[in-house]
Amino acid sequence: MPLKIYNSFSREKEEFKPINPPYVGMYVCGPTVYGHPHLGHARTYIVFDVIYRYLMHSGYKVKYVQNITDVGHLVGDVDEGEDKIQKQAKVEKMDPVEIAYKYEVSYFDDMQVLNVLKPDISCRATGHIIEMIELIKKLIEKKHAYTTNKGNVYFSVKTFKNYARLSRRKADETMEGERIEIADDKKSPEDFALWKKADAEHLMQWDSPWGKGYPGWHIECSVMSMKYIGETLDIHGGGIDNIFPHHDCEIAQSEAATGKTFIKYFIHNNMLTVDGKKMGKSLGNFIILKELFKKLDPMVLRFYILQCHYASPLDFTQAALDSAKQGYERLKNSVFSLNKAVEGKTKSSSEKYDDVETLKKEFLDAMDDDFNTSRSIAVLYEILKVSNIELQNKNMDIDKLIVINEIINDFVDKILGLKMDNKKSQDDIEDKLIEFIIQLRNNYRKEKNYKASDDIRDMLLSLGITIKDDQEKTTYTR
Ligand code: AMP
Ligand code: ZN
Repeated sequence: MPLKIYNSFSREKEEFKPINPPYVGMYVCGPTVYGHPHLGHARTYIVFDVIYRYLMHSGYKVKYVQNITDVGHLVGDVDEGEDKIQKQAKVEKMDPVEIAYKYEVSYFDDMQVLNVLKPDISCRATGHIIEMIELIKKLIEKKHAYTTNKGNVYFSVKTFKNYARLSRRKADETMEGERIEIADDKKSPEDFALWKKADAEHLMQWDSPWGKGYPGWHIECSVMSMKYIGETLDIHGGGIDNIFPHHDCEIAQSEAATGKTFIKYFIHNNMLTVDGKKMGKSLGNFIILKELFKKLDPMVLRFYILQCHYASPLDFTQAALDSAKQGYERLKNSVFSLNKAVEGKTKSSSEKYDDVETLKKEFLDAMDDDFNTSRSIAVLYEILKVSNIELQNKNMDIDKLIVINEIINDFVDKILGLKMDNKKSQDDIEDKLIEFIIQLRNNYRKEKNYKASDDIRDMLLSLGITIKDDQEKTTYTR
């Protein structure tokens, strides 16, 4: 089955045909570095990491570019308000450059913990001010942009046919909760800033033909994507929250400047929400990844995110995370047993196994069907079921297990990026030990050695494990 991608432009699944195969240029909007990454960020970058991995696995030579927004993203995501990084710099009494660098490092640290591969090119907005000025000059020359007596430069939306053709918004529509502050030097309310004049106290500012100022948020992505990939990108990605205004503005600027199609396939992942609301800094409902890592295997988080198809909403609950933990432990333990069984063994035949081949194809078909990791993970369990049955077989077919092991390593490790540490789950071992200690204690109770049985109960309690004796059996909680 050929790879099909849901293209947000056509709102249909389309066969993936890159411009110049086997090369693929993919640009994904990177983070605004003014805080530690949260679970919402993890969703977006894990999703695109799997897309990147799967494209490579399918034989494409991918150039994956991701930017770092270290200037220009204003509070409220519209043309008014303070720069998010400058605002944080004041809070932390640091230089904006220090803030941006601190949180960029934090972002890459967390992504590494989540086994997210680094993009091939990571580029900062502040490193491309010259190119932004050049693109803005070109847009002014082509009469798609205008300067104002306040020293601002705006893109003139009415000069661009089909503006907002990605979001399909009408000019007078507003986003839910959007603050409409219309700068009085705009010719038209929907025009957006390419360059903004900086007041003397503005911490980040550069010289430009229009005086001292700083770029608008959208221009950086047009500039950096076209610089590193070309005037037409195979894939542009980001969260659905970026569709409007960010991506519609990127399209307008880029196509107005080059006269070419900017994007072939637009991929947008859905949001991670809490009680149906986007997890984010502005609502304060975010969970910092570093906090989660203290309590949870980061691979459980990765698994939790990938169990849901990228286009579906994912509402965060502790119960869903707990159930993902159990599911992941099951997967991990089966993979561990399989790894152990085939360790040091080599195949003695080149036999093909129909049941395994069918499941292998089902996994790849699921991935080819718009990167459906939710379905591909369900198939993984089916493959491991075959392996578990074989492992219990008295005349175990080692060749079959080796074949399954190779497939599993490929799918779990390389495509889904679930890094297994090759040891049985710690929780699983602990559960077995607790059950064994309870068994010992029950033996003491039968012998009426209550001192020993109470000592065991107290010792478990001191470790946070409470045991409860019922008539039938002893249970525990921890
Ligand atoms: P930001 O740091 O806000 O510029 O966001 C960087 C990327 O993270 C964007 O592509 C967003 O779509 C994505 N993102 C932010 N919050 C969430 C969320 N709650 N769920 C999924 N993606 C998110
Ligand atoms: Zn962007």
